[in-house]
Amino acid sequence: MRKPFFECEFSEILLCKNELHETLNNLSHWMKDEHVDKSLVTRLDLAFIRKDPYGVVLIIGPWNCPIHLLLVPLIGAIAAGNCVIIKPSEITKNSERLMAEGLPSYLDKDCSAVVAAGVEETTRLLENKFDYIFFTGSPSVGRIVMTAAAKHLTPVTLELGGKNPCYVSDSCNVQNVARRVAWGRFFNAGQTCVAPDYVLCSAEMQEKLLPALREAITEFYGPNPRESPDFGRIVGDRQFQRVQALLHSGHTAIGGQTDAEERYIGEGPGRIAGGRGELQGGSPARRSPRHPARQPRLSSLPTAPTVLVEVQQNDPVMQEEIFGPILPILTVDSVDDAIAFINARERPLVLYVFSSRKEVVNRVLERTSSGGFCANDTIMHMTIPSLPFGGIGQSGLGSYHGRSSFETFSHQRSALLRGAGRETLNTPRYPPYAPHRLPL
Ligand code: NAD
Repeated sequence: MRKPFFECEFSEILLCKNELHETLNNLSHWMKDEHVDKSLVTRLDLAFIRKDPYGVVLIIGPWNCPIHLLLVPLIGAIAAGNCVIIKPSEITKNSERLMAEGLPSYLDKDCSAVVAAGVEETTRLLENKFDYIFFTGSPSVGRIVMTAAAKHLTPVTLELGGKNPCYVSDSCNVQNVARRVAWGRFFNAGQTCVAPDYVLCSAEMQEKLLPALREAITEFYGPNPRESPDFGRIVGDRQFQRVQALLHSGHTAIGGQTDAEERYIGEGPGRIAGGRGELQGGSPARRSPRHPARQPRLSSLPTAPTVLVEVQQNDPVMQEEIFGPILPILTVDSVDDAIAFINARERPLVLYVFSSRKEVVNRVLERTSSGGFCANDTIMHMTIPSLPFGGIGQSGLGSYHGRSSFETFSHQRSALLRGAGRETLNTPRYPPYAPHRLPL
């Protein structure tokens, strides 16, 4: 995927470390029995919630953040006391091998196993009875997993995807918005479940946003993003063909070039295979201050950071989660139009709003529904381990991160420990019943 070094550190390593610290710092507190209020007849007894492990948990991960999306749920599952079977994505082969060969040496072999499996083997794996299944991936496979779980009445968490709207109001700092949206959209070449999928804004804002986005893209990836060590590639040929087909929507305002050989979608010299954007001159690659410029590997293909305008609701790019470096902009007349547009669609994993006016942010927050919500930035909400992370409706079921992970992987077992004596207190509930009120 040519995932840039910083993006690996941020999305694969740092988020795992945050989760680990949050868990180690709080686990002894989270796992304590939770005592609850009692009635008159149970006042002298103990009533509490014990956090019990489910048993054997199956964790299935996707390819876009192949380390983080296995290790973060794994931390919660182990913290809650479960045995774990981990199934990495077969698409990112190196990470799959790293997990299968490396992880077992750090884990108790009696309590954990890594299964390197493709679709066929995973289908057979899912025939087994697990005590909990935690799945991260697409809504269509989420349905398959939930159907398999239903056979054994196994509880599931489904961390899915979808189209995350990003409303940009007229009152905002356009340069800041452009940088934050471009970072969220083009991070990992757009293959991020929390990426802003499309922008909604007024026609006037679009006029200001386009040059600001162009500037942000050039600032981030240089005049030729294809040569930038900080811009990734589409994971595989099948995914590249799918993303490339979405370019046939609206009008290409920025980028649009693709190169199937390098799985590149974006701006700069390259074979145009679909987009209508202008090619820019072949200036030398911008070198990352942290890392020397790397030569693109021909085995992992490129596409450029692309912005589409004049997009219609029925264009291909609006029919599915983009999961690639393409940002469509659709114009709306007002914040209420944006709210109506969002509410007419499936509830997203996250909803982004950019506005310097609190009343605009609150209006969108109050009148919409989504897994998460983030104002005036992208992606950053998921860096706070104490905020539960998950979708709603088509974007997922359940949540995790920090305490929410521990609770997800724990069965809340109700316990009442009564004293063996004081039988006179029980007399009113035994037949023959007296015609008086129960002292409950
Ligand atoms: P995917 O659903 O194709 O695959 C996910 C996992 O399911 C893989 O391990 C794969 O081997 C397995 N799988 C695939 N087909 C299967 C089948 N028929 N039966 C059983 N198992 C099967 O998803 P993907 O392409 O790896 O990842 C991209 C999707 O994941 C996007 O929709 C994205 O939004 C979503 N995602 C969500 C989150 C989140 O936290 N909500 C995070 C990352 C990615």
